[in-house]
Amino acid sequence: MPDTNRPDLTSLAADGPAAADGRLPLIGLDKAELAALAVDMGEKPFRGTQLFQWIYSRGARSFDDMTDISKAFRTRLADTFTLDRPVIAQEQLSEDGTRKWLHAFTDGQKAEAVLIPEDDRGTLCISSQVGCTLTCRFCHTGTQRLVRNLTPGEIIGQIMVARDALDEWPTPKDDSRRITNIVLMGMGEPLYNFDAVKKAMQIVMAGDGISISRHRITLSTSGVVPEIARCGDELRVNLAISLHAGTDEVRSQIMPINKKYPLKDLMEACATYPGASNARRITFEYVMLKDINDSEADARALVDLVKDVHCKFNLIPFNPWPGTPYECSDKKTIERFQSVLTDAGLTCPIRTPRGRDILAACGQLKTDSEKLSAKERRAQAEEVWAEKEAELG
Ligand code: SAH
Ligand code: SF4
Repeated sequence: MPDTNRPDLTSLAADGPAAADGRLPLIGLDKAELAALAVDMGEKPFRGTQLFQWIYSRGARSFDDMTDISKAFRTRLADTFTLDRPVIAQEQLSEDGTRKWLHAFTDGQKAEAVLIPEDDRGTLCISSQVGCTLTCRFCHTGTQRLVRNLTPGEIIGQIMVARDALDEWPTPKDDSRRITNIVLMGMGEPLYNFDAVKKAMQIVMAGDGISISRHRITLSTSGVVPEIARCGDELRVNLAISLHAGTDEVRSQIMPINKKYPLKDLMEACATYPGASNARRITFEYVMLKDINDSEADARALVDLVKDVHCKFNLIPFNPWPGTPYECSDKKTIERFQSVLTDAGLTCPIRTPRGRDILAACGQLKTDSEKLSAKERRAQAEEVWAEKEAELG
């Protein structure tokens, strides 16, 4: 039963719904907010720093663990707040070691995160929205309506759950970390939820927080041009652009956002991205779609398009999903495409798909799984695309 005598501290809590017992979320608050909360509860501001470190550096799951904080304050905190992370609704392990978690948030909404272990690093791919407003034709998430933005706490919560699962608390300061890199490449368009993403990433970058440097964080966008400079100015993380075509004609067909922000504007935003240099290049992601964007002429158009940008490419073999209208280009075609770019001096590895068997690879994430035939799925996707595009105008 909710305790109606509890003082109202709602305005001090993190964004997001209360737990079933009425307690409020704390994960998602930054250091200044935790200090303000401590002061409001009659404590010294430095208690905020202690809380911050217990939560984000040591991964405390209970206020009782916070042994350098007085018992009385801990009890008051536990009466009002929770340190709850998203609940793992499903966990899948790919034959290649990739792990996918389906996270359920307090209101029951769900989003996916994927951990891709490699020899020298571990990359955690996290979501920024439940669903997506955009309708990129090759992307499974694009067939799902936008349900809502994730809060900063829900974005960080995905990282904390992964650290819980790997038993990686307190945050190791040496090379033994298994989660070394974060990519905002899961569900959703991070630049349409930039404020929450920014707050979450600032906590991630804090040395006494999650402690992952901005050089190891990559934000991927479909090309929301007006927000790109902000991302560079305010976060200075690595930028990846879902490019996928070298001409407006092809790009608008597969990524309707291109009608709003065409390639000329996108390239200008990339050429002037704060912090981009030869040492810190922008990554262009390019999904290889059979007979759509994979000809040598497409590759040549691309070379010309990116000539003013410090960039590298990632060629991504298309990952199929149920009901998709596309197929992956064949190996020879991808290699031919690659050699046009390489001959022009561009770096362009072909990415090995990871986690395809559990639908954890790029563009395969989607959380409302109904049992439908491929034909029904396609029809449903067309309906959702039309609806979303009408809303976007
Ligand atoms: N909304 C952001 C973040 C999602 S990132 C963005 O679009 O950039 C997901 C990445 O996977 C993007 O580069 C996207 O274009 C790519 N992708 C989407 N569907 C894919 C598919 N079916 N196969 C391979 N890559 C895909
Ligand atoms: Fe949304 Fe990115 Fe998928 Fe496009 S590729 S539909 S922007 S998640």
